[in-house]
Amino acid sequence: MLDYQAPNDLLKDKVILVTGAGDGIGKEAALTYAAHGATVVLLGRTTKKLEQVYDQIDNSGHPQAAIVPLNLETAAEHDYMELANTIKKEFGRLDGILHNASLLGARTPLANFEPSTFDQVMKVNVTAQFLLNQALIPLLQEAPSASIVFTTSSVGRKARAYWGAYSVSKFATEAMMQLLADELESISNIRVNAINPGATRTSMRAFAYPAEDPNTLKTPTDIMPLYLYLMGNDSKDINGQSLDAQPNRSPSA
Ligand code: NDP
Repeated sequence: MLDYQAPNDLLKDKVILVTGAGDGIGKEAALTYAAHGATVVLLGRTTKKLEQVYDQIDNSGHPQAAIVPLNLETAAEHDYMELANTIKKEFGRLDGILHNASLLGARTPLANFEPSTFDQVMKVNVTAQFLLNQALIPLLQEAPSASIVFTTSSVGRKARAYWGAYSVSKFATEAMMQLLADELESISNIRVNAINPGATRTSMRAFAYPAEDPNTLKTPTDIMPLYLYLMGNDSKDINGQSLDAQPNRSPSA
């Protein structure tokens, strides 16, 4: 899918929410979606980073973005309902969600894993996605053709020692994707899929593999074709798939 060539107006008139939009892959996805015509709702926990992405979109002359500062670790149901009400008031509908924000947590044997870190990772990587979907599915149903894209990992398909809560959370992400894809298939215009980015040059990757030379890795820009494909109407008939942004790379994260 790295060779998918998106038309420049692929996402024209679409409203797309990106979580973790201030850094790494989420930042690049937000910029890329805006460059292809989308109005992007930038959700993240560090307002300053979101403002920088907002300014970059604005300076490039792309559709004006919106900023939603929200810590997914502490956000409660009413915060998600408030977000849904704001999006409804401003835009009337939502065409896509990229669930990208995640915490790596600790890389420790499960027998010694700190319970509070386990909770923290599950809250950000799983519960927040569940609550966001519940709040926003009614708005996605207002769109002509909507897409929910989750972010998985190779350790969400085959667990490996020491990946701890992160691995457990990515298995849960795969399950949530499959459940929603199956449940919504016959009743709605919403398709639901997941992307495994593969090893990508970001802070999370550097934290997980401190000794690795980042120059050997693909950048977030390199993997954007799949992010565009699944968010645009060319993937209208794809549902319930977990796809690799770097299909030829052997699993490492
Ligand atoms: P980064 O750590 O670079 O970026 C993660 C983003 O998520 C940041 O913007 C961060 O915000 C945000 N975030 C983290 N916690 C919260 C929170 N509590 N509330 C709101 N936002 C939060 O990660 P990557 O870009 O590398 O990863 C993006 C996705 O890709 C993740 O789902 C990851 O699991 C997945 N992935 C990445 C791989 C890689 O090699 N990079 C490989 C396989 C999967 P802030 O900027 O404020 O810290």
